[in-house]
Amino acid sequence: MKVYISIDMEGISGIVDWSQVDFRRRPQEYEACRRLMVGDLNAAIEGVLEAGADEVVVADSHGRMSNLPPEEVHEAAVLIRGSPRPWMMMEGIDESFDAALYVGYHSMKGTERGVLCHTISGRVVDAIYINGVEMGEFGLNAALAGCHGVPSIFISGDQAVVEEARRLVPNIRGAAVKWGVSRYAARCLHPAKARRLIREKASEALKALDEFKPFRVDEPVEVRMRFVTSTMADVAALMPYAERVDGRTIRMTFDDYPTAFRGIRTAIAVAYPVEER
Ligand SMILES: [Zn+2]
Repeated sequence: MKVYISIDMEGISGIVDWSQVDFRRRPQEYEACRRLMVGDLNAAIEGVLEAGADEVVVADSHGRMSNLPPEEVHEAAVLIRGSPRPWMMMEGIDESFDAALYVGYHSMKGTERGVLCHTISGRVVDAIYINGVEMGEFGLNAALAGCHGVPSIFISGDQAVVEEARRLVPNIRGAAVKWGVSRYAARCLHPAKARRLIREKASEALKALDEFKPFRVDEPVEVRMRFVTSTMADVAALMPYAERVDGRTIRMTFDDYPTAFRGIRTAIAVAYPVEER
């Protein structure tokens, strides 16, 4: 069995603040948090190996996408690191995989008790709707796996992201490693306990693979994006396919989901620099 793992940083056990996930702000704290990240990852890898996985591909998917210290990642895994890359947090996903797992994920922007909640870029994106349903990074990425026929079977992060994932994939196995008190505060499981939970649930998920179906969105795909400022919508609305809906919102329709995903990424890249003045 071949397994894909996408790993972010905001949902790793013990992490509650931006300064912990940004090497420029508090280098020593970031250094410690990379170790927490690799701890959660290796627990998930051990879990899937226990359940019969023989190939594991890991996509380091936070920030510049080179957070994991390579020599500390379980040697069973092939590591995809660095950016930019076309499929971002899902780089390398294709039909050859049997399952996709998400480690260290966070909830969509605006979630109550969602630790470090945001959707791709907190500076730029207020909300993204796919066919009328608001989606965070889990949904956007799980739909990409679904295009390749790959089911999404496991997620770890805070309680809020586990609940968000269950709304789209009701039987997804979840490991909640912290409970948000606010966006920047949480009650955290000890990392050793978090890792045990991740290992157990990841293993349980892969053993139950038969009960999962790929998460797919209907095509053609209608994307609505609400930006943080109207200037961002001003420039994003210049893109072919884009249509202005209101001050901060654009709408785009695409024939298939991978193209919609590229449209979302491009709109963010176009909008990102416009408030730097
Ligand atoms: Zn991140």
